[in-house]
Amino acid sequence: MSAPQNLEEFMALALAMEREAVERYTEFADTMDTHNNREVAAMFRTMAGYENKHAQQIMAEMGWKEAPPLRATLTWPDFEAPETVAIDEVHYLMQPWHALQLALAAEQRAERFFAELARVATDDSVRRAALELQAEEAEHVALVKQWLDKVPQPDRNWAEDPDPPRYSD
Ligand code: ZN
Repeated sequence: MSAPQNLEEFMALALAMEREAVERYTEFADTMDTHNNREVAAMFRTMAGYENKHAQQIMAEMGWKEAPPLRATLTWPDFEAPETVAIDEVHYLMQPWHALQLALAAEQRAERFFAELARVATDDSVRRAALELQAEEAEHVALVKQWLDKVPQPDRNWAEDPDPPRYSD
């Protein structure tokens, strides 16, 4: 990955990451709603709300009306943005504990991402912005951990559906 050269590039990258996280968390919430898993849906929607606020903060800070285009070489190390939860990690019977584990991993990836950017930044304003965003992601990590403490751990057979969905043709 090539590091952002200036604050605009850095913030454009951060914005793209936050927006992708919002999209994915919302997608998951919708999937959970479809399967009447209201509790997990609500958690994903809350996370989407946080990341959306984050995206708006970045827009406001930069005075942007719309997201700027990303430089082509400024790519994610992986296929998807670091804060995005992989789509195949979601199971329709998942419990709040599972959802929170996925969210935790995504938020930790985001935190590491900003830490790494702060480390490689050659510009002071970029480093400051990276550290600020890292701190905010650390807050998200702490929040998800607090939620995890409050939900029961699933038992071994959580993925066995006593009343599996039936499809008629
Ligand atoms: Zn976050």
